[in-house]
This record gives sequence, structure tokens and C-alpha cells, in this order.
Amino acid sequence: MKPPIGVVGLGIMGLAIAKNAQKAGFQVFVSNRSAVKREIAKREGLSVVNSPMEVAERAQAIIIMVTDPAAVEDVLTGRDGIFSSKNIKGKTLIQMSTIDEKSTLEFSESTNKNGMVYIDCPVAGSKKQVEEAQLILLAGGMKADLLKWDDLFKAIGKAVVHAGPVGKGSALKLCMNLIVAQMTTALCESVALAKVQDLNPEKIFEVIKQSPALNCGYFQIKEKTLLEENYSPAFSLKNMLKDVRFMDAVARQKKLPIPVTQAVKFLMEGALTEGLGDFDLTSISALLKPAGKK
Ligand code: NAP
Repeated sequence: MKPPIGVVGLGIMGLAIAKNAQKAGFQVFVSNRSAVKREIAKREGLSVVNSPMEVAERAQAIIIMVTDPAAVEDVLTGRDGIFSSKNIKGKTLIQMSTIDEKSTLEFSESTNKNGMVYIDCPVAGSKKQVEEAQLILLAGGMKADLLKWDDLFKAIGKAVVHAGPVGKGSALKLCMNLIVAQMTTALCESVALAKVQDLNPEKIFEVIKQSPALNCGYFQIKEKTLLEENYSPAFSLKNMLKDVRFMDAVARQKKLPIPVTQAVKFLMEGALTEGLGDFDLTSISALLKPAGKK
């Protein structure tokens, strides 16, 4: 018998994780702050309960997949949060939202004080990979704690990379997203440069597909998005900007120059000001137009 698990946060990532865990035979209890996503989850056949506390009451391991550290804090310590449950001792918290290492260490400490095991477990992969249970789990924690949940990890992902102790999963996730942020900007700028030269941007993707060096899954996924200029989110601009800000903060603290990432941050902050936060991160393209053109 597989143990019951929980998922708190049913956005792009959390909903698909919950569905895949249920498909693999886990009993899954889910909750979400807003009613809209709770209704969607019900229609998808998931067992929706009223709060993170109720999820914690019923599950042996609770996955958190929300936006940022403030959201994780709410889920843990807010009204009817996980720590309000009297039935959490010995259970495992698997924190999958992308947050910084410092917050991770703070959450780990408070989780341990509440008698729970903490696994730091952000994920690599976006909408397509999560829906196909092909995530890569970037785990920080004790190997024995990870092994205990190996069946669950296999149900939602294709690999677990053990980054080190708690905190290092989150540190690794920032390194990976630095690459994604820059690849996105490179592709968007390349398409913009094609357009101002009256060159069909499809030609860029034709070359990419023939090039062993450049033909990667990420560029393939973003081809349709960019050519059709349809920026419905696979990964929202505001969530990537959150991560770029974490990178910037770590680099500043360690006195490490990361000038290209800082330029990406500037561009994404401009896009956020333009109201593009809830669109896909490739919507930065809307800003890459010749001066005077909308
Ligand atoms: P999303 O679709 O925007 O969903 C965010 C979720 O967080 C929603 O369920 C939202 O609930 C919840 N939330 C936000 N603030 C909250 C609060 N204060 N209290 C409780 N719940 C709160 O985001 P996503 O794309 O699933 O991403 C989730 C996390 O995974 C983020 O940290 C993101 O950076 C990371 N990530 C995303 C991708 C990707 O490609 N999408 C890939 C890897 C990692 P409401 O419905 O109430 O707003």
C-alpha cells in the first residue's frame, strides 16, 4: 500500500504533480488558496480538502508547490496552515516551490522544530515536463529521507539529483534557472533581430533544428510561443523574475559579477511594469521592438 500524500498549491506545476501521483496509485489530498483552482482540481478527480492543515492531517508526505517564500510561510504558519495540525510529527514536508537557500534553511528549521522531516526539492522542467511526469528533482536533504519517497519521486519525475544537504537543492535550482533566463533572452532577442532585418524568424528555428550545438528541447518548446506571439504561461514572467532577483541577491552578497543576469533582470522588470507578469516569460519580446514601435 502506498502512503497517502498531499499537495498544497495547484498552479501550473502543483496540479499536474498531484494528478501524476494519483495516477501512480497514491491517495492524494490537495488544497489551494483560491476557489477557482480547487474547483478545477475537483473536476480532475482529486480529493480536495479545505486547508493545508487538513492536507497535513491526512497525508504522510506533503508537497508544497506555491509561488515564493511568503506563500510558503502562509502555507506553513498561516491560519489553518500545516503547523496548525496536531498530527504532523514524523511526517515529511517536501518543499518544491522555487525559493532561495536562506528561506529554505529557515523553513527547514521551523519544520524540524514541529517534528517533521524537511526535504528541499525544487524541480527542473516546465508545463510539458510536469504533465508528462518528466521532472528532474533537485533535492537537498538526507539520502535516507529521499529514498523513503523514491516511489513518489518516480511518479512525478524522471530523475533525482541529490545536490547535498537541505538548501543545496534550492541553490542548484537558481543555477539552472540562470541558464533558462539567459537562453530565453537570447532566443527572444534573436527573433527580434530577425524581424527588424525583414527576415522570417522561422529561419532561426530551421537552423537550430539542424545544429547539434543549439537543437535543445527548450528552444523547441518556445518556437510556437514566439512565432505565434501567444504568451499564455508555461512559466510566468513574474515567477522567473522572482528567481532572477534571488540570483542577483546571492551574487551581490558574495560580490560575484553576473552582468548578463542583471541585464535580464532589468528587462524582466520592464516587462512586469508593462503588465506582463502573468504571461509566459517569453513575453519580454513585447519590449524588444524598435524605438517608437508598439
Ligand atoms: P502558478 O501557476 O502561478 O501557481 C502558484 C500557486 O501558488 C497557486 O496555487 C497559488 O494559489 C499559490 N499561492 C501563491 N501565493 C500564495 C499564498 N500566499 N498562500 C497560498 N498559496 C499561494 O505557479 P507555478 O508555475 O505552478 O509555479 C509554482 C512554483 O514552481 C514557483 O515557485 C515557480 O517558480 C516554480 N517552478 C515553475 C515552473 C514552471 O515552468 N511553471 C518550473 C519549475 C519551477 P492561488 O490559486 O490562490 O493564487
